Amino acid sequence: MTRTTKAASLYQVQQLDGEVDRIAAEAQAINAALQDDSAVRQVQQAVTAASTALQQRQQALRAAEQELADLAARIKSHNDRLYSGNVSNPRELGSLQQEVGHLRELHNTQEERVLEAMAAAEEAQTLMESEKTRQEALEKTRQQEQAMLVDRQRQVEARLADARQRRQSQAESCEAPLLQRYEQIRRIRGKAVALAEGGTCQGCRVSLTASDMQRVRTSADITTCSNCGRILYLP
Ligand SMILES: [Zn+2]
Repeated sequence: MTRTTKAASLYQVQQLDGEVDRIAAEAQAINAALQDDSAVRQVQQAVTAASTALQQRQQALRAAEQELADLAARIKSHNDRLYSGNVSNPRELGSLQQEVGHLRELHNTQEERVLEAMAAAEEAQTLMESEKTRQEALEKTRQQEQAMLVDRQRQVEARLADARQRRQSQAESCEAPLLQRYEQIRRIRGKAVALAEGGTCQGCRVSLTASDMQRVRTSADITTCSNCGRILYLP
């Protein structure tokens, strides 16, 4: 293997590593999007909250209606006594009439409360229905999105397998010790091969000496940057 092909081969490996990393990041983003069901969970919570509120208001309405019925029953029972002819004591009659008057006031007030409770329950019902509609729409959108993401995931995984395959073949074309060195520098520096363009190491931006450049051009072995240790490549 000539000097040029050694560095060039490693540079190719590096390009393919970059491609593999980019596609892997894309695959990871798709997986994250597939697992992210926060919007669906949020709307489910909203539906649950609306349902709880509706139950509470319906319960309050039933209680208010029950109280109204109780008041009506008490009024009726007082009236029954009043008009039964069994009560003749004027003081008792007066007190019963007074009590009926008082109960009628309470009944009127309670009727207002029942109307308010009805309106509140209707409002809760409307909110509940709108949250359910929103949930259905969102779940439908989510299903479509999931199908699209699964499709993209398949494509990206195929591209990733292909890029890994090409990287593997390219790596196999390099001498094992050279590849090991490449891997070592890559672990430390992120990128192991730097272009030696314009008399500068493009990895660390430090100027290369004339003798460094001379070695890059002519040495049989690979040359590394004396500053950052990256393998220098002159295309
Ligand atoms: Zn350097």
